[in-house]
Parts: sequence; structure tokens; C-alpha cells
Amino acid sequence: MEILLAIWEDHDLQADDNAVSFSQIRSRVAHDDPGNLRYHLNKLEGHFVRQRSERGGYALRVPAKKLIREVVAGAGVHDKHLPPTRVDQRCPFCEAPTVMSYREGVLFWACHECGGMTPGRDFAPFDPPGPLTAHSFAPAGLHEWSPERLWSASLVAGWRRLRSMFDGICPNCSSPVNSWFDSCPDHDPDRCDDCGLRFGTTAHFRCSACDRHLGCTPKQLALFHPAVVSFYDDHGISTRIRADAVDHAKRVYDLVLDHEVTVLDVEPISVAVTVSNDDETVRLTFDDSVRVVDVSR
Ligand SMILES: [Zn+2]
Ligand SMILES: [Zn+2]
Ligand SMILES: [Zn+2]
Repeated sequence: MEILLAIWEDHDLQADDNAVSFSQIRSRVAHDDPGNLRYHLNKLEGHFVRQRSERGGYALRVPAKKLIREVVAGAGVHDKHLPPTRVDQRCPFCEAPTVMSYREGVLFWACHECGGMTPGRDFAPFDPPGPLTAHSFAPAGLHEWSPERLWSASLVAGWRRLRSMFDGICPNCSSPVNSWFDSCPDHDPDRCDDCGLRFGTTAHFRCSACDRHLGCTPKQLALFHPAVVSFYDDHGISTRIRADAVDHAKRVYDLVLDHEVTVLDVEPISVAVTVSNDDETVRLTFDDSVRVVDVSR
């Protein structure tokens, strides 16, 4: 890793020949013994490092660059932490003040008053009570945003990852994704002792290779469909959100919560999401594998 970082730090991305010489690498790493360094360089050659024979320098291959970017994104992964910090966003369910917090790579937005998305659940001592959203977020970006923009940045990041899962490809490992619905038969939206969730119907996505799992309300998935995007566009509303445009992101988030979910059939399950604006509606029907099979407007 030290050798790869030495090449990374010395290589010139813009140059045609961005190889780094053996002596440059040697001056950056702690190896005094050139034989030992050459031994380790030989081990890296092939998959991670390419030797430029004409000039004798070393260049990084794509897998090495990916690895280093991961290290940069995760810089200080064990000490980045954000204690619950008040943000200027009211809880969409009870209007109480809300907080953002960060631990172990996950950014939480939570309401401690009403239980957020999980009003019927008890939490382990370290989980923030009442999560409204929980998105994985690279620690390198944590202190680059104000708490307000952290809210919209996490929404952008979370929806992007969800969009990829919905489109059938894992954003982590590029493998195929399995998807299904889960619905609570006797759901009580105020406090459900059966499922513990705010919304009784959940769309699940699980990667077939790395086991990455995301669950969401189908309300949110409607926003990824072109019929809904154009419906909103016809009503003068852009569904595009940006990390640095907090007010607009909040508006789009509120629209999503107004989407109406109906379970049409149980076996196999079929779910409709209805989007309304100015007395007009568009309705998407999802089959049991969370694919849109019908659109009516
Ligand atoms: Zn609340
Ligand atoms: Zn329930
Ligand atoms: Zn995966």
C-alpha cells in the first residue's frame, strides 16, 4: 500500500507518460534496501502496477487507482464522527426539530420525538432513535458540508445508490440485484406493533454477490420513473435535486412523502403508487419483483 501511495503521490495525471521512477518511489517509502523494494514492486506488477519498460518507471493500473480512491474516501474512517446536530428541518411527521448524526460510515437524519420511520421499534443503545433517513456516506466528505447541506447531500447520495439498486445493478460491486416487496397485513400507521415501521409496504433490494441491502418505501421509487418526472415537469416542478440546493431538495422530499401507496394484490403482491398534483394523477403499478408494469395518467 505504501508503494502504491508513493506512485500515486508522484504521478502526473495529465502527462502522457506518467510513470514514476524506481528512485522516486524509493525516496518516499521506508525501505532502505533496494532489493527488498524491488521484490515488493515485482509482487504488485501485473494487476496493480505496470512497468514502463522504455523508461524503467512504474505506473498504476486501474485496480490500484480504485483501491487508493477508496482509501482517500475512507480517510480516518474510525475517528470521523458527528454527534447529534440540530438542522433547520422540521420532522415531516410531527414538526419537531430534527438532528443529523454520523457514525461508522452512516449518516442519520432523525426525529427523537415521534420515532421517525420506525415509530414502533426499540433501539440498541448506539442507534439514534427515530431515524428518518440512514444513508452510507464516505467519511472524507463529512466535514466538507454544513449540517444543512449534509442533509441534502445525504439525500442525493442515498437516492443515487437506491436508483442503481432499483435499476438492477449493485453500486458497490456491479453485480445483479434481487428485489421484492414486504407488506404488513394489519398495519397501524401511527405505531405498528407488528412491523414497527411508519409505512407498511417496503421495497427491498439485495445484491446477489456482496449482500448489500437497501429497503425503501415505494413512494420514493416513483420519482425514478420518466412518467412521474415528466408529470411533475408538466406542473412546473423539477424533480432534480442537488446537494447544494437544500430548499429545493426539501420540497422534492415532501412531494415524495405525499405519494400514495396501495397494495392491489397480495399473492403475488402488486403495489400501486399514485402521484397527484393540481387534480391530476399519474399511477405506477409494480409487480412482485418491484418492476413497473403499468402506467396510467
Ligand atoms: Zn417526528
Ligand atoms: Zn405494520
Ligand atoms: Zn454488491
